[in-house]
Amino acid sequence: MPRELLLQVTPEIAANELLLKDYLSKEIKVSPKEIQHISILKRSIDARQKAIKINLKVIIYLQSEPFQETKIELPLYKDVSSAQEVIVVGAGPAGLFAALQLIELGLKPIVIERGKDVRGRRRDLKAINVDHLVNEDSNYCFGEGGAGTYSDGKLYTRSKKRGDVTRILELLVAFGASEDILVEAHPHIGTNKLPKIIEDIRNKIIEFGGQVLFDTRVTDILVKNNEVEGIVTQTGDTILANKLILATGHSARDIFELLDKKKIFIEAKPFALGVRAEHSQELIDSIQYSCDYRGEHLPPAPYSIVKQVNGRGMYSFCMCPGGVIAPCATRPGEVVTNGWSPSKRDQATANSGIVIELKLEDFKPFEKFGALAGMEFQKSIEQRAWHLAGETQKVPAQRMIDFTQNKVSADIPKTSYVPGTTSVEMGQVFPGFLSQILREGFKEFGKSMRGYLTNEAILHAPESRTSSPVRIPRDPITYEHLQIKGLYPCGEGAGYAGGIISAAIDGEKCALMIAETLK
Ligand code: FAD
Repeated sequence: MPRELLLQVTPEIAANELLLKDYLSKEIKVSPKEIQHISILKRSIDARQKAIKINLKVIIYLQSEPFQETKIELPLYKDVSSAQEVIVVGAGPAGLFAALQLIELGLKPIVIERGKDVRGRRRDLKAINVDHLVNEDSNYCFGEGGAGTYSDGKLYTRSKKRGDVTRILELLVAFGASEDILVEAHPHIGTNKLPKIIEDIRNKIIEFGGQVLFDTRVTDILVKNNEVEGIVTQTGDTILANKLILATGHSARDIFELLDKKKIFIEAKPFALGVRAEHSQELIDSIQYSCDYRGEHLPPAPYSIVKQVNGRGMYSFCMCPGGVIAPCATRPGEVVTNGWSPSKRDQATANSGIVIELKLEDFKPFEKFGALAGMEFQKSIEQRAWHLAGETQKVPAQRMIDFTQNKVSADIPKTSYVPGTTSVEMGQVFPGFLSQILREGFKEFGKSMRGYLTNEAILHAPESRTSSPVRIPRDPITYEHLQIKGLYPCGEGAGYAGGIISAAIDGEKCALMIAETLK
């Protein structure tokens, strides 16, 4: 019988197949020649002690034991070109995985995406970075692949449903992601690899009879007698179908406004907001690995930190080791930050959102906007930041200790945020209570992570698109909107996901629910 083993080895051994074989042969007392194959099932880093160890779960096959390489295959898709049509609005992870699942279930998805395909999108990312021009339909949040396309591609989720998570990871592998994502405790893909995977998903949808329409923005949802009839696009065209998956993401403010105007039930939802902090990766490595030099066998270190400050959670969000801060506005007249990393995470800087949980009562000054109060609060901060930094895509920035001391920084060094920064006292960007919590919180962070609180760290503002400020309520069993038949609010924008994996899982679930009703 092949032997399953849990072990702790040095990073050097974990990174080298021959050394690992040698090590394991001693562990199980056989000669290295007798080992036919070692499969790694799980890998994580244990950095709690000075001598960092890698935890591995492995299966060892001896020469005498049967071993067969398994290849992860795509499901058997059927041609759905003449099947019943389902409209899927949004080609983010929720929309794309909904479309794949619909095909698997014998239904025809018509995916409608306001942005461009992944390649076309690149030009618009350059325009926002270099020329400070924001295209309202094609940017870091909008376009094929959705908000996660040009990201760090972190694939961890708080979802407890391991089966659902594994299914999505395996689909990603079948579409070209490295098998490492199946074994790493904290898998990620990287900005350079995600676009090809997304392109392959789209081609598969089309190959099996689905449709994908780019540059097509949904401007109206046709509803009769509380039942979906179809959609209208920005050119006035209509597409009719009585099942609609609405997966437009957390930044589709025009969709929230449309639903509100049409009196389709939506509600304000708390989200989190703050700044994006950038340190040198070397400094984060030295804190997390307790070393001067990380060496060649350890990956750039991530960090994750949570504190309770004045009764509120303040925490790191979407941390990107070896990454870059990106301009993620979706309309002119606002600035928004987020982060991405290439697959190797080999940039010199480490960035992370540092955000504070908001409560519905924080939106009180905006209560006249009803269900859109949180969205208007979010918008007001993004617009104020835009104004304070000079009305371009430059963002307000401040050195971390200066911020804790309410002091405008005398200078801001060049950071990874390409459009540039303007030195601003961050207290002007946020309402007083938020600035106060952030100031206190950074001091607390400095106590837990020695070296974190430093004037070498630069804060960029705001980090404001952490999750949707609106929920589109649905039945917890059928996933159908509470009031409109045939409407399936889906993914992060509807308030049912918080990242790439959970959005993809939700997309699949909505497709399954639709198939259920058609049985
Ligand atoms: P989205 O990905 O937002 O997709 C919605 C799609 O709908 C968009 O493509 C949009 O163009 C389209 N759309 C909107 N309105 C309309 C309309 N009216 N008509 C037609 N189409 C419309 N998550 C992680 O798990 N790991 C990470 O490392 C990570 N990094 C990130 C980095 C960045 C820079 C950003 C911006 C986000 C990151 N996220 C990350 C978050 C993640 O991208 C989202 O949680 C996820 O993409 C949500 O998926 P979704 O399909 O629900 O929505």
